[in-house]
Amino acid sequence: MIQYEKLQEIAGAEHVHRDEPMSSHTTFRIGGPADYYVETGDEQTLAGLVCACRRTDTPFFILGNGSNLLVADEGYRGVMISLRGFDEISFVEEKTSDGKTLMKAGSGVLLSKAAMQAAGKGLTGFEFAGGIPGTLGGAVTMNAGAYGGEIKDVIVSVRVMDMEGQIRELSAQELDLSYRHSVIQEQELIVLSADFAFKDGDTEQIQEKMRELNAQRREKQPLEYGSAGSTFKRPEGYFAGKLIQDAGLKGYRCGDVMVSEKHSGFVVNVGKGTCHDAMQVIEHVQKAVYEQFGVELELEVKRLG
Ligand SMILES: Cc1cc2nc3c(=O)[nH]c(=O)nc-3n(C[C@H](O)[C@H](O)[C@H](O)COP(=O)(O)OP(=O)(O)OC[C@H]3O[C@@H](n4cnc5c(N)ncnc54)[C@H](O)[C@@H]3O)c2cc1C
Repeated sequence: MIQYEKLQEIAGAEHVHRDEPMSSHTTFRIGGPADYYVETGDEQTLAGLVCACRRTDTPFFILGNGSNLLVADEGYRGVMISLRGFDEISFVEEKTSDGKTLMKAGSGVLLSKAAMQAAGKGLTGFEFAGGIPGTLGGAVTMNAGAYGGEIKDVIVSVRVMDMEGQIRELSAQELDLSYRHSVIQEQELIVLSADFAFKDGDTEQIQEKMRELNAQRREKQPLEYGSAGSTFKRPEGYFAGKLIQDAGLKGYRCGDVMVSEKHSGFVVNVGKGTCHDAMQVIEHVQKAVYEQFGVELELEVKRLG
């Protein structure tokens, strides 16, 4: 395991924390301590961290906004690397050959912020992302999507770092984006930044659309509780929430974790829920839905530790 002092030397003492509770860094508000939690927004520092962890056989994990994660109550044995510091956004003045405007954004930028900035510039195409509580890095990795839009529709290219600390660029095509999938995880890459292309639109209309979508979210989703969004992937030909509701599992509860009363596709933490509680709910739901409908519900949420 890498030494604390080595991490401090690479990332700066103020950016390295020991025994950091992951419940403070995940929207589920669940998860025990990570041995080390390091924040960076610098490519050279990130390369140094990756190489040092690999040299010492220390596990490490790249964290965005923790909005798609369920971390074990025992926490994480290794180094959690938060990329929230990669937070720059800019827009290219000159249009692309097909008349669009490029937005260049760091992996740590929140989707809500990027969507608002694009809207402010009168650019349309990113309205769908405004209410997704993740970072651009997490969204590219997961090919996040909502309300008929997805990252795949607007991404042009991405700058990535590999496990040797080498940086290269991938085109949208090379990312092989499909439903909640990209090559980022298979190829053990880290997203540093990405370019997106948007068409011109009308700021008023774009902002109105975003307000509408956010109102729909507030109405339909249990945003008042901790969660990691839709717990399960959408099974081909079905909706996870509908299957769970039809199986009579709305409100099914273990400890402080339950199937949301508002939206059965969400497993929510209504108090001091634990990963153990969450897994009991998840496994019960998977078993009951399979027994009643023969459909396997696959986790969309990433489990860690
Ligand atoms: C209330 C709520 C609503 C949601 N609604 C939606 C929705 O409508 N649509 C949707 O698609 N999702 C939704 N989600 C899920 C989640 O917000 C998305 O999956 C989001 O893209 C995750 O981004 P993140 O930065 O939080 O990633 P994290 O949860 O931090 O990480 C997710 C995965 O991505 C990896 N990762 C993160 N950053 C990088 C990087 N820079 N390089 C390489 N790998 C990286 C992590 O290692 C991890 O494996 C919702 C979640 C919540 C809580």
